[in-house]
Amino acid sequence: MSYIVAKFGGTSLANFEAMSRCADVVLASKETRLVVVSASSGVTNLLVSLGRGSLNEAQCHEAVSKIRDIQNAIIAHLTLSDEQQQHIESLLSRITDISVAVSQSESSSLELADELLSFGEQLSSFLFTQVLVERGEKASWFDVRQVMRTSSDFSKAIVSLDDLKSSVVEKLLPILEKNVVVTQGFIGADEQNRTTTLGRGGSDYSAALLGEAVGCSQINIWTDVSGIFTTDPRITSQAYALEEISFNEAAEMAIYGAKVLHPSTLIPAMRQNIPVFVGSSREPDAGGTIVRNETESKPVYRAIALRRAQTLVTVTSMAMLHAPGFLARVFAILAKHNLSIDLVTTSEVSVALTLDDTGVNSGGKSQLSEALLNELKEICQVKIEQDLALVAIIGNAIDSSNGVGSRLFSALDDVNIRMICQGASSHNLCFLIDEDQATDVISRLHHSMFEQNTQGAA
Ligand code: ASP
Ligand code: MG
Repeated sequence: MSYIVAKFGGTSLANFEAMSRCADVVLASKETRLVVVSASSGVTNLLVSLGRGSLNEAQCHEAVSKIRDIQNAIIAHLTLSDEQQQHIESLLSRITDISVAVSQSESSSLELADELLSFGEQLSSFLFTQVLVERGEKASWFDVRQVMRTSSDFSKAIVSLDDLKSSVVEKLLPILEKNVVVTQGFIGADEQNRTTTLGRGGSDYSAALLGEAVGCSQINIWTDVSGIFTTDPRITSQAYALEEISFNEAAEMAIYGAKVLHPSTLIPAMRQNIPVFVGSSREPDAGGTIVRNETESKPVYRAIALRRAQTLVTVTSMAMLHAPGFLARVFAILAKHNLSIDLVTTSEVSVALTLDDTGVNSGGKSQLSEALLNELKEICQVKIEQDLALVAIIGNAIDSSNGVGSRLFSALDDVNIRMICQGASSHNLCFLIDEDQATDVISRLHHSMFEQNTQGAA
């Protein structure tokens, strides 16, 4: 039998009404047998605050009672047996015990933090199973830690793929043949059975890994937006959901700042060529976007992504003129300070670059330490400019299509474009502008590329 894996994100499971809509989605499709869930929205963040160890005991109790309130609001609509009630109670009291222990201990522990984080998905999966059962579905709860074996790198554990495949065949497939199975995203267990997590937002990745292991025909990611949009609809109301997009294009979008599926999520689906559907559990009938290896359409312009808070570093040295090895020295200094370079353009005596700020909240500024700048200044002049935004046009054959430049420049004829990178990838063209022009620039480009029935995406 071919299965569809459904993954529901935190907002889709925020309360009983939201969970009921997810149940509708599961019940509407016979093939949807494996359900992977995130924690109900808000819960992981509360657990993160508990795991940091910075709360005192009273604050811990307060945070746990917020988690309890979220669960109770759902439970109020369910008929739980005493045993089920006790199970929920025992999970909540584990949260309290661990967080109080964490708050009293001198040092923070990633191991305890991971255990704490896992309760979000344990609770939501348990309650969602019950929602399905009360809707008449034969559904069973499955502890994903039985099959999702990982390294002991708490907070960013690496999944052991061979073990996953064989234990899914042994432990999960037999249940799937009979029941709908609800399990947890984001969490796993190491060799010593200690709970681990795969990194924030990891439940999409879990869904893709499990989908790969069960050999599913499609992975449906249900969230609160009906698909991947041409650009952020908060920037322009003209943005629309794409019917399809390739994994490569979607990965470019995520890298360049669009809040879509994280690229690493897509790897298991990409390797097995499993289509991934992204839709809204609020409006399941509104359609969504299919992400796949090969799309039917390959428009030059598929989407526009925006990444704010960019820092442009320009290094200049006359010594660079005809001198071998200058770039290597600049890059070596950046590497030594653990900085990864994002965009680069060069001229005879200058190099302009932006820093990859993935994982850094406040843009590039905080990455540029005094020590780094001093080292750079020994070999060149350094200019730093902030408050820039990176705009990425994403599509196909951008490097070999006629007229891309003229369309860009004519749409933005009065905008100071600071840096342009094009040619290394056929899927993108990136440039920098002043951040306060970002909204206007995106709206105008969107108009030029997607609203005039030209080569834009369908
Ligand atoms: N609950 C986890 C988080 O918020 C995992 C996920 O939702 O994907 O990061
Ligand atoms: Mg999520």
